[in-house]
Amino acid sequence: MFAFSDEQQMVRQMVRRWVEAKLVPANADLERHKVLPYDLMRDFAKSFGLAEMVRAKFERMAERSAKAEERGDDGGGHMAGDPALQAIMSIEMCRVSPGFFLSFGASLGLAGGAIMAKGTLEQKKRWALPILTTEKIGAWGMTEPGAGSDAFGSMRTVARPDGDFYVLNGQKTFITNAPHADTCVVYAKIDRGQDVPMAARPVHAFIVEKGTPGFTQSRPMEKMGMLASPTGELFLEDVRVHKSHLLGETEQEAARDKARDVFHGERTSMAPMAFGIIDKCIEVATKHSQERVTWGKPIGEYQLVQEKLARMFVHRQNVENLLFKQLWLQKNRKNMNAAEASATKLYCARAATECALEAVQILGGNGYMREYHVEQLARDAKLLQIGGGTDEIQIGHIARFLLKAC
Ligand SMILES: Cc1cc2nc3c(=O)[nH]c(=O)nc-3n(C[C@H](O)[C@H](O)[C@H](O)COP(=O)(O)OP(=O)(O)OC[C@H]3O[C@@H](n4cnc5c(N)ncnc54)[C@H](O)[C@@H]3O)c2cc1C
Repeated sequence: MFAFSDEQQMVRQMVRRWVEAKLVPANADLERHKVLPYDLMRDFAKSFGLAEMVRAKFERMAERSAKAEERGDDGGGHMAGDPALQAIMSIEMCRVSPGFFLSFGASLGLAGGAIMAKGTLEQKKRWALPILTTEKIGAWGMTEPGAGSDAFGSMRTVARPDGDFYVLNGQKTFITNAPHADTCVVYAKIDRGQDVPMAARPVHAFIVEKGTPGFTQSRPMEKMGMLASPTGELFLEDVRVHKSHLLGETEQEAARDKARDVFHGERTSMAPMAFGIIDKCIEVATKHSQERVTWGKPIGEYQLVQEKLARMFVHRQNVENLLFKQLWLQKNRKNMNAAEASATKLYCARAATECALEAVQILGGNGYMREYHVEQLARDAKLLQIGGGTDEIQIGHIARFLLKAC
């Protein structure tokens, strides 16, 4: 049995209070692009002493790393946060603005996480620390116009070694925070002019900073949902970066495995996001079912409406169980295997989309109106079925795992 502890429940209440005081009033402006999510992210970090906490942890990690280096091993470089607290943050923010959380997660989790996973201590200090404290904003650039689901195989962005530098050329698309990010993690294939097919070339991750000559960050793209989160393109035209910008500073270990870890983290991060969306939809739909009267009865007394509410409840319970399984495994320093992570993402993403659309249905015409919030959650939830690997790609992983295991 695993559940949030009393202390974690207290933190949840504190986060909810912050969300109600700060995120709820800002939501309409975030949705209409009148404000960016970044100052609010910094406000959250300040309110919860995130920067101080991260700095203290970073110092301890740096000491461990230095000792490990003296011993000649490569341990000690990790700086794990409390996954339960991260889940709480995600749940509470996603009840109101999954887009806001997406920007937060892409900066700290994807960009910051990738640098922490693959960078040298110096790189972590220079680029990850300012992202983790929210001083700087990060973006994680893997997807390209011709390379989404088949991100590695079809990748066309290249890095040509040139003395102590690499010259990057290519384009990334659909990148969260791309229009405004200070620090971008960009994946590229090493190009030594040799006769190696593109699909087989090693992929490495580079840090490209805002303002680097030849590096263009697009304006935000117009999209269906997650409107609080700016999404854009990154264009690289003969961008020269010093070799110290190559994550890990060596080409010996390709970035694919670490990038796969990021995919894994992205997949398992969907459970709390889905839980937050479903939880809010149940709250709004239940209240409406009690208050809205047709033919002299609250609509909640009609079995067709009850069936929708019951299905939403079952989804919430299942998503919660998947989330708690994940948290229990992480607490015990274990991880879901790739098929389990895919199954979790697939189920949670579909459940969130279904529940949000059912909430719209229960609210009828009101559900279709912005004022009632569930139409936003329905548009936002749909992204969970696409980002971090589509439903179809998750199904493929699960099926291949089963077929190999039998
Ligand atoms: C709002 C938003 C934010 C994003 N943020 C980021 C980010 O920060 N960083 C980043 O790198 N990327 C980001 N992405 C990109 C995202 O990860 C990709 O969109 C996703 O992986 C799908 O790739 P694609 O769009 O190229 O779709 P495609 O790969 O073109 O797929 C199109 C359709 O074909 C299906 N399909 C493809 N191959 C197969 C197959 N083998 N079998 C069955 N069906 C298949 C897919 O499931 C899908 O339905 C973001 C996307 C969005 C929309």
